Amino acid sequence: MSGNITFTIIKPTAVSQGYIGPILNKIHQGGFRISAMRMLWLTRGEAEHFYEVHKERPFYTDLVDFMTSGPIVVAILNKENAVEDYRKLIGATDPEKAEEGTIRKEFAKSMQENAVHGSDSDENANIESSFFFSGLQRF
Ligand code: ATP
Ligand code: MG
Repeated sequence: MSGNITFTIIKPTAVSQGYIGPILNKIHQGGFRISAMRMLWLTRGEAEHFYEVHKERPFYTDLVDFMTSGPIVVAILNKENAVEDYRKLIGATDPEKAEEGTIRKEFAKSMQENAVHGSDSDENANIESSFFFSGLQRF
């Protein structure tokens, strides 16, 4: 059975370009309820840990540099079939391949600076959510 939460990050460039509001609006229009949210600046160690699955990939160091380049917004989103539906709403990793109307199509600058993160499985949605939020911070 598919789970009802996913985890998202509004990445540094999207935050600095003023897209927090427009992205949250898309999330709301997409039928998601925000059950936890905050703004923070990742340390290098935290970003390395978050993207550990990619540590052998050629873009890993650049990705960690980018994700620690400024503040981000992290949130837990609730909806039936949340993981799959949110991946549809954000669009392909490469914004040039993302469909019209998706968050990445509208707000991404490049493959790396692609506006948002979305969990890729129910298991990772739970792991990522508890990495950033305690039970007391989830509503
Ligand atoms: P995310 O995990 O952020 O939701 P994704 O699941 O669509 O994105 P992943 O393959 O998990 O894509 O890659 C994680 C992130 O690493 C991407 O969102 C992007 O910022 C960066 N990335 C992935 N592939 C490349 C690449 N070829 N060049 C530069 N950056 C990349
Ligand atoms: Mg991913």
